[in-house]
Amino acid sequence: MQERVNKLRKQMEPQPFDGMLILKPENRRYLSGFTGSAGYLLITGQEAVLITDFRYSEQAKEQAPHFRVVNHGASVQDTIRAELESAGVKRLAFEKDHLTYALYASYSEKFAPVELIPTEGIVEKIRAVKDAQEIATIRQACAIADAAFSHILGFLKPGISERDVALELEFFMRREGAKSSSFDIIVASGARSSLPHGVASDKILQQGDFVKMDFGALYDGYCSDITRTVVLGEPNERQKQIYDIVLEAQLRALNNLKPGMSGKEADALARDLIRDKGYGDQFGHSLGHGLGLYIHEDPRLSTLSNDQLEPGMVVTVEPGIYIPGFGGVRIEDDVVITEFGIEILTRSTKELLILS
Ligand code: ZN
Ligand code: ZN
Repeated sequence: MQERVNKLRKQMEPQPFDGMLILKPENRRYLSGFTGSAGYLLITGQEAVLITDFRYSEQAKEQAPHFRVVNHGASVQDTIRAELESAGVKRLAFEKDHLTYALYASYSEKFAPVELIPTEGIVEKIRAVKDAQEIATIRQACAIADAAFSHILGFLKPGISERDVALELEFFMRREGAKSSSFDIIVASGARSSLPHGVASDKILQQGDFVKMDFGALYDGYCSDITRTVVLGEPNERQKQIYDIVLEAQLRALNNLKPGMSGKEADALARDLIRDKGYGDQFGHSLGHGLGLYIHEDPRLSTLSNDQLEPGMVVTVEPGIYIPGFGGVRIEDDVVITEFGIEILTRSTKELLILS
C-alpha cells in the first residue's frame, strides 16, 4: 500500500500543486486500504493523512497503518483546513469529476488562500496497472462468476422470467462469497437480447430464445464481468451464424491482444472481422474496458482510445452483434495483459450451449 502512495507522489512531482485531496471512494480505498464508507485523504510530498470520523477511526488505523488517522468533528472542512495549514499546502489538487459545484464553492471559500487545482485521472492511471494481490482478487471474482454460470445452466428453462434468472445468479454469487453483483445483472432473452444493456425484466423465457446474461461478482472490493449467450432448444441457422461470427471475433481479439497495442488497435481486432462479415453497424459499443475496484476503468478498448496496453492491466473483451426484432449475442471475458500476450481469467465455455 505504501508503494501506491509512492507512485502517486512520483506523479505529483512535476505537477503545479503541492497537495492532493482524494475524495473518490475507489481511490481512497486503493491508496489507503481503508474500506469504510466515509473518509478523505490528504497527500503531500511528506504527509499522508486519512481524515474520517469516530465511527471509523479504529478501523482506519488498522487498515491504513501508513496513514496518520485524524478524526474530524462537526465540520470536516475545518479539519481539512487545519491539516492544509500545518502541511503548508499552497495549491491543492482535487478530482474534478467527483467534486460537486456546491462543495467546490464551499472549499474555495473555506480553504482560502489555498488555491484549488482541478485534476483528472491521476490515481486512475496508476490503478489501471494491477499488482499481484489485485490480480489474485480479480481472479477470485472471476471464479465466482464462472461458478454462477455453470450453476445457472441447470436453472434455465422455458417458463421462468429473466428476473428469476438474475435473482438466482445474484443469490448464488453471494452465497459463494461475493458482497453483491458488480453491476445490475443483464438478462435479455428472445428479441430483447438485441438490447445490449437489457436489464432483467418480467419477460418469460421461451423455447428457441437466445438468453444473453451479463453479470459479475464484487469480491473483496474487486469486480468481475462476464457475458455468455445460450439458446433454449435448437438454434436456427441465423442464430448459429451470428453466434459463430461473434465468437470468431472474440477469439481473434484474445489471440492477438498484447502489450504495446493501443486501445484502438485492440478494438479493431474484433471490429474489422464483424464489419467484413456485414454486421459492422450491429456492433455499436466498444470492445472492452478496464476493470478493478470499479466496473468501468482505464484503459478503454474502443475506436477512439489511445490508451496503451501494459502488463498488469485487466480488461474485458466483449464483442457483440445486435439485430433489432431478432436478438443479439455478446461474449465477454476478463483478461490480464502479460509480458507477451494475455491470460484469460474467466473460464466458462464459449461453445454455443443448447439447453433443452
Ligand atoms: Zn459485462
Ligand atoms: Zn463489460
